[in-house]
Amino acid sequence: MPAALPKPEVLAVPASVVYSEELETNKQPRRTVTLEDWKIGVFTSVDAGLGVDLNVAHELGIPTIQIHAPHQGNRTQETADEILARLSQFGISVTAVFGGFEGESYADIPTVVNTVGLMPLETRNSRLAEMKEISDFAKMIGCNVIALHLGFVPHDKQDPGYAEILSVTQELCDYAKDNGQALHLETGQETAPALLEFIADSQRDNLFVNFDPANMILYGAGNPIEAVSLLGDKIRSVHCKDAKWAANPGEEWGEETMLGDGEVGMDDYLRALQSIGYRGPLTIEREIPQEPARQKEEIGHAVQLLNRLKKEIL
Ligand code: MG
Repeated sequence: MPAALPKPEVLAVPASVVYSEELETNKQPRRTVTLEDWKIGVFTSVDAGLGVDLNVAHELGIPTIQIHAPHQGNRTQETADEILARLSQFGISVTAVFGGFEGESYADIPTVVNTVGLMPLETRNSRLAEMKEISDFAKMIGCNVIALHLGFVPHDKQDPGYAEILSVTQELCDYAKDNGQALHLETGQETAPALLEFIADSQRDNLFVNFDPANMILYGAGNPIEAVSLLGDKIRSVHCKDAKWAANPGEEWGEETMLGDGEVGMDDYLRALQSIGYRGPLTIEREIPQEPARQKEEIGHAVQLLNRLKKEIL
């Protein structure tokens, strides 16, 4: 629908990015996506973050989860063993462990800039140390992907902050690699071209994207369907989340909605993922933990929607 289309300047892609060597490497032979792929997933929490409890995943019969890392202090072998026991009982596998930190707030865009991820200077070192702990915790539960919101990376590459966050990301990538893991950056704050340049600049082969189409809309960072095509093989995990554009994208928040009620266009989204040969899980994210009954109901609705679309598309 027309309302879903961002302003043309948001879609504009510098020629240097479109024709870069980086994108050439995304043009891998297309693999056929089958019904065995695209396992349904849900974003969960143990004691921190905005996800649902593992029990909800179990009750809805969802086979995969991403999990928000437990609070600092609970990233222990004991906690890992408890989680592993529940997952084994439920027959659920973990596809990514998300880092998150005390003090982060997604209240509005300026607050995100000041509080989220590894960008805020005053907490950068302590949070980097925490991400290393989270990498170790992910290893304890046998997960080879860690992920996070980096925060707002400076758009101007001459800004000293750009080199600083690049250096921090490289350090984290190297730590994760030693643990046999990839690092996935949650999309939203950056446009797809900016994210591709950042990944290329990192010169790390274990840095990829966790694509969240709703965040592209919420933050006003570009048309999510276009972004899927542009990011291509860099997309190694995804969120299925929906949202409506703000009146002034990039200045104010869009509005998160139930899956299918927003302006992503789930059919278009899944077809775009099919076209890039994405075969990983479809992880539902619905960030309304303050309303757990509604959260569970809407995740159940999302499962039905995704299963129906899978059958139609694949
Ligand atoms: Mg997300």
